[in-house]
Amino acid sequence: MKNKTLLITGGAGFIGSALVRHLIEITDYRVVNLDKLTYAGNLESLGPVSSNDRYVFEQVDICNAAEVARVFREHRPDAIMHLAAESHVDRSIDGPAAFIETNVTGTCVLLEAARAYWNELPEAEKTQFRFHHISTDEVYGSLGAEGLFSETSPYQPNSPYSASKASSDHMVRAWHETYGLPALITNCSNNYGPCQFPEKLVPLIILNALAGKPLPIYGKGDQIRDWLYVDDHARALLRVLETGRSGETYNIGGHNEKTNLEVVKTLCAILDQKRPDHPGGIGRYEELITHVTDRPGHDQRYAIDASKIEQELGWMPEETFESGMTKTVDWYLNNATWCQRVLDGSYRGERLGVIE
Ligand code: NAD
Repeated sequence: MKNKTLLITGGAGFIGSALVRHLIEITDYRVVNLDKLTYAGNLESLGPVSSNDRYVFEQVDICNAAEVARVFREHRPDAIMHLAAESHVDRSIDGPAAFIETNVTGTCVLLEAARAYWNELPEAEKTQFRFHHISTDEVYGSLGAEGLFSETSPYQPNSPYSASKASSDHMVRAWHETYGLPALITNCSNNYGPCQFPEKLVPLIILNALAGKPLPIYGKGDQIRDWLYVDDHARALLRVLETGRSGETYNIGGHNEKTNLEVVKTLCAILDQKRPDHPGGIGRYEELITHVTDRPGHDQRYAIDASKIEQELGWMPEETFESGMTKTVDWYLNNATWCQRVLDGSYRGERLGVIE
Protein backbone atom coordinates (compact mmCIF):
# COMPACT_ATOMS: atom_id res chain seq x y z
CA MET A 1 0.00 0.00 0.00
CA LYS A 2 1.32 3.45 -0.86
CA ASN A 3 2.27 5.79 1.96
CA LYS A 4 -0.21 8.59 2.63
CA THR A 5 0.88 12.01 1.39
CA LEU A 6 0.70 15.22 3.40
CA LEU A 7 1.00 18.58 1.68
CA ILE A 8 2.64 21.01 4.14
CA THR A 9 2.65 24.71 3.23
CA GLY A 10 5.34 26.87 4.86
CA GLY A 11 7.50 23.82 5.65
CA ALA A 12 10.70 25.86 5.40
CA GLY A 13 9.61 28.21 8.20
CA PHE A 14 10.08 27.87 11.94
CA ILE A 15 7.07 25.69 12.89
CA GLY A 16 6.71 24.13 9.44
CA SER A 17 10.27 22.79 9.46
CA ALA A 18 9.79 21.35 12.98
CA LEU A 19 6.61 19.66 11.74
CA VAL A 20 8.27 18.27 8.59
CA ARG A 21 11.23 16.92 10.61
CA HIS A 22 8.79 15.31 13.07
CA LEU A 23 6.67 13.75 10.30
CA ILE A 24 9.66 12.28 8.46
CA GLU A 25 11.32 11.06 11.64
CA ILE A 26 8.41 9.42 13.44
CA THR A 27 5.73 8.60 10.80
CA ASP A 28 5.75 6.94 7.36
CA TYR A 29 3.91 9.78 5.58
CA ARG A 30 5.23 11.16 2.31
CA VAL A 31 5.71 14.90 2.86
CA VAL A 32 5.43 17.54 0.13
CA ASN A 33 6.74 20.87 1.38
CA LEU A 34 5.26 23.79 -0.58
CA ASP A 35 7.07 27.01 0.27
CA LYS A 36 7.84 30.28 -1.53
CA LEU A 37 11.04 30.79 0.49
CA THR A 38 10.46 34.35 1.67
CA TYR A 39 13.04 35.90 4.04
CA ALA A 40 11.55 33.59 6.75
CA GLY A 41 11.94 30.34 4.81
CA ASN A 42 15.19 28.44 5.05
CA LEU A 43 15.84 24.99 3.56
CA GLU A 44 18.82 24.55 5.90
CA SER A 45 16.30 23.94 8.69
CA LEU A 46 15.36 20.74 6.84
CA GLY A 47 18.92 19.42 6.56
CA PRO A 48 18.25 16.28 8.64
CA VAL A 49 15.39 15.12 6.35
CA SER A 50 15.97 16.70 2.95
CA SER A 51 17.53 13.61 1.38
CA ASN A 52 14.81 11.26 2.66
CA ASP A 53 12.86 9.42 -0.11
CA ARG A 54 9.57 10.46 1.49
CA TYR A 55 10.37 14.20 1.32
CA VAL A 56 9.75 16.48 -1.70
CA PHE A 57 10.19 20.25 -1.96
CA GLU A 58 8.11 22.51 -4.25
CA GLN A 59 9.10 26.19 -4.40
CA VAL A 60 5.66 27.71 -4.99
CA ASP A 61 3.80 30.84 -3.88
CA ILE A 62 0.41 29.92 -2.36
CA CYS A 63 -1.06 32.92 -4.22
CA ASN A 64 -0.21 31.30 -7.59
CA ALA A 65 -3.41 29.36 -8.35
CA ALA A 66 -2.05 27.51 -11.41
CA GLU A 67 1.03 26.25 -9.57
CA VAL A 68 -0.93 25.28 -6.46
CA ALA A 69 -3.38 23.29 -8.66
CA ARG A 70 -0.41 21.56 -10.33
CA VAL A 71 0.98 20.51 -6.95
CA PHE A 72 -2.39 18.99 -5.96
CA ARG A 73 -2.63 17.19 -9.35
CA GLU A 74 0.92 15.82 -9.25
CA HIS A 75 1.18 14.79 -5.60
CA ARG A 76 -2.45 13.85 -4.82
CA PRO A 77 -2.27 14.61 -1.07
CA ASP A 78 -4.45 12.84 1.51
CA ALA A 79 -4.42 16.00 3.61
CA ILE A 80 -3.03 19.52 3.65
CA MET A 81 -1.56 21.26 6.69
CA HIS A 82 -1.46 24.98 5.96
CA LEU A 83 1.26 26.94 7.81
CA ALA A 84 2.55 29.31 5.09
CA ALA A 85 2.02 32.87 6.26
CA GLU A 86 3.55 36.24 6.89
CA SER A 87 3.99 35.78 10.64
CA HIS A 88 5.69 38.78 12.28
CA VAL A 89 3.37 41.28 14.00
CA ASP A 90 5.92 44.12 13.79
CA ARG A 91 6.28 43.72 10.01
CA SER A 92 2.47 43.76 9.68
CA ILE A 93 2.46 47.21 11.30
CA ASP A 94 5.11 48.49 8.89
CA GLY A 95 3.43 46.97 5.81
CA PRO A 96 0.07 45.17 6.08
CA ALA A 97 -0.33 44.49 2.33
CA ALA A 98 1.89 41.38 2.22
CA PHE A 99 -0.12 39.93 5.13
CA ILE A 100 -3.42 40.37 3.28
CA GLU A 101 -1.89 38.93 0.10
CA THR A 102 -0.44 35.75 1.62
CA ASN A 103 -2.59 35.13 4.70
CA VAL A 104 -5.97 36.07 3.21
CA THR A 105 -5.75 35.75 -0.58
CA GLY A 106 -3.23 32.89 -0.45
CA THR A 107 -5.43 30.90 1.95
CA CYS A 108 -8.39 31.47 -0.38
CA VAL A 109 -6.34 30.18 -3.35
CA LEU A 110 -5.42 27.06 -1.36
CA LEU A 111 -9.00 26.46 -0.25
CA GLU A 112 -10.24 26.69 -3.83
CA ALA A 113 -7.51 24.37 -5.12
CA ALA A 114 -8.22 21.91 -2.30
CA ARG A 115 -11.97 22.05 -2.99
CA ALA A 116 -11.56 21.39 -6.73
CA TYR A 117 -9.23 18.46 -6.02
CA TRP A 118 -11.41 17.08 -3.18
CA ASN A 119 -14.57 17.22 -5.34
CA GLU A 120 -13.01 14.73 -7.76
CA LEU A 121 -11.89 12.23 -5.10
CA PRO A 122 -13.62 8.85 -4.72
CA GLU A 123 -16.19 8.91 -1.88
CA ALA A 124 -14.04 7.04 0.70
CA GLU A 125 -11.03 9.33 0.15
CA LYS A 126 -13.32 12.37 0.23
CA THR A 127 -14.43 11.56 3.76
CA GLN A 128 -10.85 11.01 4.94
CA PHE A 129 -9.42 14.20 3.36
CA ARG A 130 -8.51 17.07 5.74
CA PHE A 131 -7.70 20.75 5.27
CA HIS A 132 -5.86 21.61 8.52
CA HIS A 133 -5.40 25.34 9.01
CA ILE A 134 -2.71 26.37 11.50
CA SER A 135 -3.53 29.62 13.28
CA THR A 136 -2.77 31.69 16.33
CA ASP A 137 -4.35 32.63 19.67
CA GLU A 138 -3.82 36.28 18.68
CA VAL A 139 -7.15 36.16 16.78
CA TYR A 140 -8.91 36.33 20.18
CA GLY A 141 -7.37 39.72 21.05
CA SER A 142 -6.09 40.58 24.51
CA LEU A 143 -7.01 39.28 27.98
CA GLY A 144 -7.12 41.18 31.27
CA ALA A 145 -5.46 39.79 34.39
CA GLU A 146 -7.96 36.89 34.60
CA GLY A 147 -9.45 34.33 32.20
CA LEU A 148 -8.26 32.09 29.37
CA PHE A 149 -8.96 31.87 25.62
CA SER A 150 -11.19 28.92 24.76
CA GLU A 151 -12.43 27.72 21.37
CA THR A 152 -15.60 29.77 21.90
CA SER A 153 -13.88 33.08 22.78
CA PRO A 154 -15.00 35.90 20.46
CA TYR A 155 -12.60 36.99 17.70
CA GLN A 156 -11.10 40.44 18.46
CA PRO A 157 -7.86 40.72 16.47
CA ASN A 158 -5.87 43.89 17.20
CA SER A 159 -2.93 43.87 14.75
CA PRO A 160 -2.89 43.63 10.94
CA TYR A 161 -1.24 40.19 11.41
CA SER A 162 -3.92 38.82 13.73
CA ALA A 163 -6.69 40.36 11.59
CA SER A 164 -5.32 38.55 8.52
CA LYS A 165 -5.14 35.25 10.44
CA ALA A 166 -8.67 35.76 11.81
CA SER A 167 -9.87 36.32 8.27
CA SER A 168 -8.25 33.08 7.07
CA ASP A 169 -9.78 31.15 10.02
CA HIS A 170 -13.22 32.43 9.03
CA MET A 171 -12.71 31.37 5.41
CA VAL A 172 -11.68 27.84 6.39
CA ARG A 173 -14.76 27.59 8.57
CA ALA A 174 -16.95 28.92 5.74
CA TRP A 175 -15.51 26.44 3.19
CA HIS A 176 -16.37 23.67 5.64
CA GLU A 177 -19.91 24.94 6.29
CA THR A 178 -20.71 25.93 2.70
CA TYR A 179 -18.95 23.30 0.59
CA GLY A 180 -18.50 20.50 3.13
CA LEU A 181 -14.70 20.58 2.80
CA PRO A 182 -13.43 18.54 5.81
CA ALA A 183 -11.50 21.11 7.82
CA LEU A 184 -9.67 21.48 11.12
CA ILE A 185 -8.45 24.71 12.71
CA THR A 186 -5.86 24.96 15.47
CA ASN A 187 -5.07 28.17 17.36
CA CYS A 188 -1.77 28.03 19.19
CA SER A 189 0.04 30.27 21.65
CA ASN A 190 3.59 31.67 21.24
CA ASN A 191 6.13 29.08 20.04
CA TYR A 192 9.87 29.01 20.73
CA GLY A 193 12.62 26.58 19.80
CA PRO A 194 15.26 25.85 17.14
CA CYS A 195 15.27 27.47 13.68
CA GLN A 196 13.21 30.57 14.52
CA PHE A 197 14.09 33.67 12.51
CA PRO A 198 16.00 36.04 14.82
CA GLU A 199 13.48 38.90 14.59
CA LYS A 200 11.29 37.04 17.13
CA LEU A 201 11.86 37.65 20.87
CA VAL A 202 13.64 34.45 21.98
CA PRO A 203 16.30 34.12 19.24
CA LEU A 204 16.73 37.92 19.11
CA ILE A 205 17.60 38.00 22.81
CA ILE A 206 19.98 35.01 22.59
CA LEU A 207 21.89 36.36 19.58
CA ASN A 208 22.02 39.97 20.78
CA ALA A 209 23.23 38.84 24.23
CA LEU A 210 26.03 36.75 22.72
CA ALA A 211 27.07 39.73 20.58
CA GLY A 212 26.99 42.11 23.60
CA LYS A 213 24.22 44.17 21.95
CA PRO A 214 21.25 45.78 23.79
CA LEU A 215 18.34 43.44 24.59
CA PRO A 216 15.33 45.52 23.46
CA ILE A 217 12.16 45.07 25.54
CA TYR A 218 8.90 46.76 24.58
CA GLY A 219 7.68 49.12 27.33
CA LYS A 220 7.91 47.64 30.82
CA GLY A 221 8.07 44.06 29.46
CA ASP A 222 5.00 43.12 31.48
CA GLN A 223 3.03 41.67 28.55
CA ILE A 224 2.15 38.03 29.18
CA ARG A 225 2.38 35.22 26.61
CA ASP A 226 1.72 31.49 27.00
CA TRP A 227 4.92 29.81 25.73
CA LEU A 228 5.03 26.43 23.95
CA TYR A 229 8.09 24.53 22.73
CA VAL A 230 7.83 24.10 18.96
CA ASP A 231 8.17 20.28 18.99
CA ASP A 232 5.21 20.10 21.38
CA HIS A 233 3.25 22.12 18.81
CA ALA A 234 4.33 19.72 16.03
CA ARG A 235 3.16 16.74 18.12
CA ALA A 236 -0.18 18.49 18.77
CA LEU A 237 -0.68 19.21 15.05
CA LEU A 238 -0.16 15.57 14.12
CA ARG A 239 -2.55 14.47 16.88
CA VAL A 240 -5.26 16.88 15.65
CA LEU A 241 -4.77 15.84 12.02
CA GLU A 242 -5.12 12.15 12.82
CA THR A 243 -7.76 12.19 15.55
CA GLY A 244 -9.47 15.62 15.55
CA ARG A 245 -13.10 15.87 14.47
CA SER A 246 -13.71 17.55 11.12
CA GLY A 247 -15.23 21.02 11.48
CA GLU A 248 -13.73 21.54 14.95
CA THR A 249 -11.29 24.08 16.35
CA TYR A 250 -8.65 23.07 18.91
CA ASN A 251 -6.66 25.53 21.03
CA ILE A 252 -3.05 24.53 21.75
CA GLY A 253 -1.08 26.00 24.66
CA GLY A 254 1.70 25.18 27.06
CA HIS A 255 0.38 26.34 30.48
CA ASN A 256 3.43 28.61 30.64
CA GLU A 257 2.29 32.16 31.22
CA LYS A 258 5.36 34.42 31.46
CA THR A 259 5.93 38.14 31.08
CA ASN A 260 8.32 39.14 28.30
CA LEU A 261 10.72 40.36 31.00
CA GLU A 262 10.65 36.92 32.69
CA VAL A 263 11.43 35.25 29.35
CA VAL A 264 14.38 37.55 28.76
CA LYS A 265 15.73 37.11 32.30
CA THR A 266 15.40 33.32 32.01
CA LEU A 267 17.41 33.37 28.77
CA CYS A 268 20.05 35.63 30.36
CA ALA A 269 20.38 33.28 33.37
CA ILE A 270 20.83 30.21 31.11
CA LEU A 271 23.44 32.08 29.08
CA ASP A 272 25.25 33.20 32.27
CA GLN A 273 25.79 29.50 33.01
CA LYS A 274 26.56 28.29 29.49
CA ARG A 275 28.63 31.26 28.24
CA PRO A 276 30.19 32.83 31.36
CA ASP A 277 32.76 34.71 29.23
CA HIS A 278 30.51 37.79 28.94
CA PRO A 279 31.17 40.27 26.10
CA GLY A 280 32.11 43.92 26.67
CA GLY A 281 33.11 43.67 30.32
CA ILE A 282 29.61 43.06 31.71
CA GLY A 283 29.11 40.67 34.65
CA ARG A 284 25.66 39.34 33.71
CA TYR A 285 23.71 39.31 30.42
CA GLU A 286 20.75 41.02 32.17
CA GLU A 287 22.79 44.24 32.19
CA LEU A 288 22.11 44.50 28.44
CA ILE A 289 18.32 44.81 28.91
CA THR A 290 17.09 48.07 27.32
CA HIS A 291 13.46 49.18 27.48
CA VAL A 292 12.24 50.65 24.15
CA THR A 293 9.02 52.40 23.06
CA ASP A 294 6.12 49.95 23.24
CA ARG A 295 4.60 48.42 20.11
CA PRO A 296 1.39 50.25 19.11
CA GLY A 297 -1.73 48.19 19.90
CA HIS A 298 0.37 45.75 21.94
CA ASP A 299 -1.86 43.01 23.40
CA GLN A 300 -1.37 42.73 27.17
CA ARG A 301 -2.02 39.06 27.86
CA TYR A 302 -2.63 35.79 25.98
CA ALA A 303 -3.38 32.55 27.82
CA ILE A 304 -4.86 29.33 26.47
CA ASP A 305 -7.38 26.92 27.91
CA ALA A 306 -6.08 23.73 26.26
CA SER A 307 -8.54 21.37 27.99
CA LYS A 308 -10.34 20.41 24.75
CA ILE A 309 -7.26 19.00 23.01
CA GLU A 310 -6.04 17.46 26.28
CA GLN A 311 -9.31 15.73 27.16
CA GLU A 312 -10.59 14.83 23.67
CA LEU A 313 -7.34 13.95 21.96
CA GLY A 314 -5.04 13.14 24.89
CA TRP A 315 -2.32 15.64 23.93
CA MET A 316 -0.11 17.22 26.62
CA PRO A 317 3.09 19.25 26.22
CA GLU A 318 6.25 17.25 27.03
CA GLU A 319 8.60 20.16 27.72
CA THR A 320 8.49 22.49 30.70
CA PHE A 321 9.36 26.16 30.17
CA GLU A 322 12.81 25.57 31.71
CA SER A 323 13.64 22.40 29.71
CA GLY A 324 12.40 23.94 26.44
CA MET A 325 14.30 27.20 26.96
CA THR A 326 17.50 25.31 27.81
CA LYS A 327 17.18 23.17 24.65
CA THR A 328 16.57 26.33 22.63
CA VAL A 329 19.64 28.14 23.97
CA ASP A 330 21.74 25.01 23.33
CA TRP A 331 20.49 24.86 19.74
CA TYR A 332 21.43 28.50 19.01
CA LEU A 333 24.83 28.05 20.65
CA ASN A 334 25.51 24.97 18.50
CA ASN A 335 24.20 26.38 15.21
CA ALA A 336 26.01 29.66 14.73
CA THR A 337 26.33 29.03 10.97
CA TRP A 338 22.54 28.70 10.56
CA CYS A 339 22.16 32.04 12.36
CA GLN A 340 24.79 33.80 10.27
CA ARG A 341 23.34 32.61 6.96
CA VAL A 342 19.78 33.49 7.89
CA LEU A 343 20.83 37.05 8.65
CA ASP A 344 21.43 38.03 5.04
CA GLY A 345 22.26 41.64 5.83
CA SER A 346 18.77 43.13 5.51
CA TYR A 347 17.83 42.51 9.13
CA ARG A 348 20.11 43.80 11.90
CA GLY A 349 18.50 42.65 15.13
CA GLU A 350 16.42 45.75 15.72
CA ARG A 351 12.78 46.03 16.76
CA LEU A 352 10.48 46.74 13.79
CA GLY A 353 6.95 48.17 13.78
CA VAL A 354 7.60 51.05 16.15
CA ILE A 355 5.62 53.88 14.54
CA GLU A 356 6.34 57.33 15.93
P1 NAD B 1 7.61 31.65 9.68
O1 NAD B 1 7.51 33.09 9.31
O2 NAD B 1 8.80 31.17 10.41
O3 NAD B 1 7.47 30.75 8.36
C1 NAD B 1 6.53 31.02 7.37
C2 NAD B 1 6.88 30.18 6.15
O4 NAD B 1 5.88 30.44 5.14
C3 NAD B 1 8.24 30.53 5.54
O5 NAD B 1 8.95 29.35 5.22
C4 NAD B 1 7.88 31.30 4.27
O6 NAD B 1 8.85 31.15 3.25
C5 NAD B 1 6.55 30.68 3.91
N1 NAD B 1 5.69 31.60 3.10
C6 NAD B 1 5.41 32.89 3.38
N2 NAD B 1 4.64 33.40 2.39
C7 NAD B 1 4.42 32.40 1.49
C8 NAD B 1 3.69 32.29 0.28
N3 NAD B 1 3.04 33.35 -0.23
N4 NAD B 1 3.67 31.11 -0.37
C9 NAD B 1 4.34 30.03 0.13
N5 NAD B 1 5.08 30.08 1.26
C10 NAD B 1 5.12 31.25 1.95
O7 NAD B 1 6.25 31.34 10.51
P2 NAD B 1 6.05 30.34 11.74
O8 NAD B 1 6.38 31.05 12.98
O9 NAD B 1 6.67 29.06 11.41
O10 NAD B 1 4.45 30.18 11.69
C11 NAD B 1 3.84 29.18 10.88
C12 NAD B 1 2.33 29.29 11.02
O11 NAD B 1 1.95 29.12 12.37
C13 NAD B 1 1.79 30.65 10.58
O12 NAD B 1 0.58 30.43 9.90
C14 NAD B 1 1.55 31.38 11.89
O13 NAD B 1 0.49 32.29 11.76
C15 NAD B 1 1.19 30.23 12.81
N6 NAD B 1 1.51 30.43 14.24
C16 NAD B 1 2.77 30.84 14.63
C17 NAD B 1 3.05 30.96 15.99
C18 NAD B 1 4.43 31.36 16.47
O14 NAD B 1 4.61 31.56 17.68
N7 NAD B 1 5.44 31.45 15.61
C19 NAD B 1 2.06 30.70 16.94
C20 NAD B 1 0.80 30.29 16.50
C21 NAD B 1 0.54 30.15 15.15
